[in-house]
Amino acid sequence: MTERTLTGTGATPRSGVGTVVWYSADADLPDPEDATVDPEVERKRFEDARETARTELEAERERTAERVGEQEAGVFDAHRQFLADPQIEDGVESALEAALPVEHAVQRAFADPIEQFEGMGGRTAERADDLRDVRDRLVRILAGDDRVDLDELPEGTVVLAERLTPSDTARLDPDRVAGFATVTGGRTSHAAIFARSLALPAVVGVGDDLHDVTEGATVVVDGDAGELVVDPGDERREAARATNDVEIREEPVTTADGIGIEVAANVGRPTELEAANARGADGVGLYRTEFLFLDRDAPPDEDEQYETYREALETFPDGRVVVRTLDIGGDKPIPYLELPDEENPFLGERGIRRSLGPDADLFETQLRALLRAAADGEGRLAVMFPLVATPEELTDALETVGAVADALCEEGVDYAVPELGVMIETPGAVFTAPELAARVDFLSIGTNDLTQYVMAAARENERVAGLREPRHPAVLRAIARTVEAAHEHDAWIGMCGEMAGDPELTELLVGLGLDELSMSAVTVPEVKAAVQGVDTEDAAEHASDALEAATSTEAIAHIESGTTDR
Ligand code: PEP
Ligand code: MG
Repeated sequence: MTERTLTGTGATPRSGVGTVVWYSADADLPDPEDATVDPEVERKRFEDARETARTELEAERERTAERVGEQEAGVFDAHRQFLADPQIEDGVESALEAALPVEHAVQRAFADPIEQFEGMGGRTAERADDLRDVRDRLVRILAGDDRVDLDELPEGTVVLAERLTPSDTARLDPDRVAGFATVTGGRTSHAAIFARSLALPAVVGVGDDLHDVTEGATVVVDGDAGELVVDPGDERREAARATNDVEIREEPVTTADGIGIEVAANVGRPTELEAANARGADGVGLYRTEFLFLDRDAPPDEDEQYETYREALETFPDGRVVVRTLDIGGDKPIPYLELPDEENPFLGERGIRRSLGPDADLFETQLRALLRAAADGEGRLAVMFPLVATPEELTDALETVGAVADALCEEGVDYAVPELGVMIETPGAVFTAPELAARVDFLSIGTNDLTQYVMAAARENERVAGLREPRHPAVLRAIARTVEAAHEHDAWIGMCGEMAGDPELTELLVGLGLDELSMSAVTVPEVKAAVQGVDTEDAAEHASDALEAATSTEAIAHIESGTTDR
């Protein structure tokens, strides 16, 4: 058999070899001609299916947050919104009134919104996939369909599909599945994003040629080159296996011209620490402590928190652990704290605003635990404050640290004041970065929130996902401005938003002057490798050209061309 290569877009810099299983999201629908339809009965079936869908989405959100990441899990909130969308509800209702069986009513109700999204082009068009995901879920529930069970695939399977929804992708177990390829999709489609988080080899957007690949065929999924190789020869198979062994670099890395860049991991739960260590992270660049407060009935007390922070420091005795104080509100509610019902929680009381207001007690307890942890044993602790928008908030937070230190001193308890820093996540913080940097040891840019606030495009709103582009010149310029302010005031500058974990952006970020990059543990090896390939002078020139781009499209084209094309 001769080797045949199909091309698409590589989603993960990994390769896998395995046996094809075709997966179809389509369920068998009843023939509308044959069906006798009682709109009342169909309406009730629709309501029941919606309820089941809601329950499934909740479970999948939880599983995704655990397996893939909190950020990625947000897509299921968007799906819940689509389930309750009035345009869809009206569409279903009018199709039921026209005596269509509910499966067809659902299909018809989603058709227009899907077409509208597709018509918008660019990244927004990819949101049509979310609508399809919700539609297919409803139809599957209604049809009681049993398809290929993605949770139970045999080891070494390569999944081929027209498209994979976020829910489908989150069900793929990276230990068993060798990769996937889809007919549709681009680099920023959810399937591609999830594949990166799961370190799954994936090629998306292969086009209709993919349909010619038969069930049971042997294929190589080369997520780096964006190729699907059918009936690969021995050489190609071996090459695929070899790229799977990503080299773990345990030691800190430098650029090709010898500049040290710290590559750290983002963690949310103590169980993630070991994985971060195993992937070669130099330390923790973002410990999202709100996860310690979730899934329980009362907040962890000072001693429990102290133990948790000590555990992190002991996992990285030679590195630094940056703990972020509680960041709740927005999309991170904690049931026992009775958060206010706000019209727009992302612009409301979240992050440091709560710590300096209604959660002042929790803030103090957390700081006591942190200052105690900083005094003992191994490891270097740093503490940063989330969602700062004004220098006054920093003043208040620093005063609280001072008061906590005084109280511990008076009580005769051992403590040390750790390095202190501010997260740069709001335009307010960007424009006052010099004032902030002058008073702290470091700044860390949270591009997830910064992009949402600079672009006025809510994080969980899939309708404006196209605008949430961290490579937009406005976001790039905000980053550059922040880096400049930090260095002017001798503060080190890190980045802990998703952007930091994309090895394709490492050169740009080093060129912009970042000293530290922190990401989900899985991409640490790739980013470390990318750092080693960067020449800082070339990178600075590359970054300064990107900053001059007039539009996202121009900036992206420039960034993707890399310095090698210049
Ligand atoms: C960010 O906003 O970029 C960030 C890292 O914080 P989180 O994702 O936890 O809001
Ligand atoms: Mg944030």
